[in-house]
Amino acid sequence: MALSIKDLITEADRCVACGLCLPHCPTYRKTGSEADSPRGRIQLMRAVAQEILPNNARFNEHIDLCLNCRSCESACPNNVNYGHLVDTSRAIFMRKKSIWQTIAKPFIRHRYLQYGLAWSVWLIQKLKLSNLLQYVVPAAKVLPAINMPTIWKTLYPSDHTQINKGDVSLFLGCATNTLDNQTLKASIYVLNKLGFNVHIPSQQTCCGSIARQMGDSYEAEKLIAQNQAGFADNMPMLTVASGCGAGLNDYLPKHNVQDISAFLMACDWSAMKIQTLAKRIYVQDPCTLRNVQKSHQTVYSLLKKIPQADIQPLAGNGQCCGGAGAYMLTQNDMATNLSNDKIIAIKEDNVAILATSNIGCSLHIATGLRAQNLNVTIEHPIEIIAKQVGFVGIL
Ligand code: SF4
Ligand code: SF4
Repeated sequence: MALSIKDLITEADRCVACGLCLPHCPTYRKTGSEADSPRGRIQLMRAVAQEILPNNARFNEHIDLCLNCRSCESACPNNVNYGHLVDTSRAIFMRKKSIWQTIAKPFIRHRYLQYGLAWSVWLIQKLKLSNLLQYVVPAAKVLPAINMPTIWKTLYPSDHTQINKGDVSLFLGCATNTLDNQTLKASIYVLNKLGFNVHIPSQQTCCGSIARQMGDSYEAEKLIAQNQAGFADNMPMLTVASGCGAGLNDYLPKHNVQDISAFLMACDWSAMKIQTLAKRIYVQDPCTLRNVQKSHQTVYSLLKKIPQADIQPLAGNGQCCGGAGAYMLTQNDMATNLSNDKIIAIKEDNVAILATSNIGCSLHIATGLRAQNLNVTIEHPIEIIAKQVGFVGIL
């Protein structure tokens, strides 16, 4: 739930303006403007909440340019909850609704529209009409090559008839379900093989993060309430996209929300035969996994289970890639500027395989790579390890 104006002012008052967060802020590093820093934005939010400054276009620009990457939160010695401050400011003060908000809203809310979109994109790609689509809708350049859409069962039982480790539920996520069902299939495959029954509640919907980012807290809360009703609160609720995991962790605290890599690292793998993979794999840390869920290290630990795999962090992992949900569409200049830093790091280290746990990062970095004709395989860590334990792409 977004804060009240009174609570926003109280939380903003906790900022002692020490400036320790400034070097960690990507937008401040790029523009050098105090108004694009966490400290500056907090002062602006408080001044607008107290009606000392007007809620005008300039204020909105500085808040819109924030990625909500929450690097500032990780650096803050006073634990100022910047995420709640910016979510609240967007909910209360955002004046102009973006075109993307209008377009995205029905797709976020209705799963049958997501399936319709997935089938349309899949068909367009099969008919080799992607260039025509990008000509009509330039934003379609972010779309990856997708698999045939999947209608999920509500239960995928464990492979083991005797060893049953229990039940987990899997959160699909609208972007992952539409554009990367391979990662979801890989997750089910590994969980079943480890002895877990995987439930896919049919009532689930979008996590609400995109709606919240666009200032529509009413819509975000409706989506959270639907997920709350759809998922059992006593069963681990696993997410594969760290962006969804972060939003659900923040706004569905009574549910046992866990990133899939963190959950798998706590499991017993002793009976699992993992094939060797003598390759170097670089890992990109999504901000939502690093700064919000704080479980990015489990991705490295999980991939290190693969014999002979050399697991390395991508240089500059502390800085957001610029994907940030809808940011890559609404703030294209800054988003591209930030993804260029990732492309430089990828080129400098001759990266051939990049693992990332967030579909938004994957789409955004892949768009930058395609623009420079660079051939890098980007995969979710679960897909990489699933292939080493026998996953061939089908369930
Ligand atoms: S969330 Fe990220 S972009 Fe926004 S102020 Fe904090 S560090 Fe800067
Ligand atoms: S580090 Fe924390 S207290 Fe210091 S300026 Fe940044 S938000 Fe304020």
